[in-house]
Amino acid sequence: MLSASVKVVVSSVSGFCMGVKHAINLANEACGQCAGQVYVAGELVHNKKVMESIESIGIKLLGDDDLGKISPKDSLLIRAHGCPRNECVRFRKIFNTIIDGTCPHVVMVSKMVERGTVEGKYVIIIGDKSHPEVKTLVSFAKGGNVCVINSEEELGHLEGRMDQVLVIAQSTIDESVFLNFADKISKIYPHAEIKNTICGSSRRRQRAILDLKKEGAQTVIVVGGKHSNNTCTLVQIAQKIGLPTFHVETAADLPIEKLKVFQVIGVASGTSTDEKTTKQIIAVLRKLEN
Ligand code: SF4
Repeated sequence: MLSASVKVVVSSVSGFCMGVKHAINLANEACGQCAGQVYVAGELVHNKKVMESIESIGIKLLGDDDLGKISPKDSLLIRAHGCPRNECVRFRKIFNTIIDGTCPHVVMVSKMVERGTVEGKYVIIIGDKSHPEVKTLVSFAKGGNVCVINSEEELGHLEGRMDQVLVIAQSTIDESVFLNFADKISKIYPHAEIKNTICGSSRRRQRAILDLKKEGAQTVIVVGGKHSNNTCTLVQIAQKIGLPTFHVETAADLPIEKLKVFQVIGVASGTSTDEKTTKQIIAVLRKLEN
């Protein structure tokens, strides 16, 4: 049954973040300029539709099978999440041309990790150790002076004494989770330097979810790749504040029947979600308004 009058409220932040735009622009330029095949090391961004469009312009996801047949004209594009140092060294031996699509924010935090460890600090990264961005950050730590924390249990494994500690965040994690861990780490290491390195784009989207609730949203549609960390974070935040949440990749995934019981439907999207897909979803939902 359709609810009396349905209203759609949309997050104030949408479209690609600057890091994703940067990587996609480089991908387009590379296709126009490279005489050989352009490869990308891992998904350029964690979004199926974006990857399909990248592949449609001729970029190929680098597989193990490709490594033995790289020609001097071929080039490699590094994705927005960056590339661990040892992998970059290996790629430089294989490719004549490497195009660095690492997000400028990830570059900045990588330098922070490197500088911190050179100065003798132990770096604690709050995030997911299996995520490509975190692997990149870890690779910049000198002398193995780094660990990644993602749970209370891992927090309990921290060394008892350390003189200098630098605490940073994976760029897309839930800000409240980071602040909670940072607070607990400060109790273990009172002199720890805390740097909230969640990127501005992720942070603004996280806060916009809270605004959707203030605007009366009773449910939230989060648009973005199922493997996109920042999109999954938005889903978790919406759930945490008590809103039934649906994570969709395209308009075809919308659970229209389930949505008909709500009067105010919120829409938010991840940093690697193209504006067109979000607009298509909003257009479908707006039809419920009449
Ligand atoms: S989400 Fe943030 S860190 Fe990741 S690519 Fe976008 S701007 Fe860069």
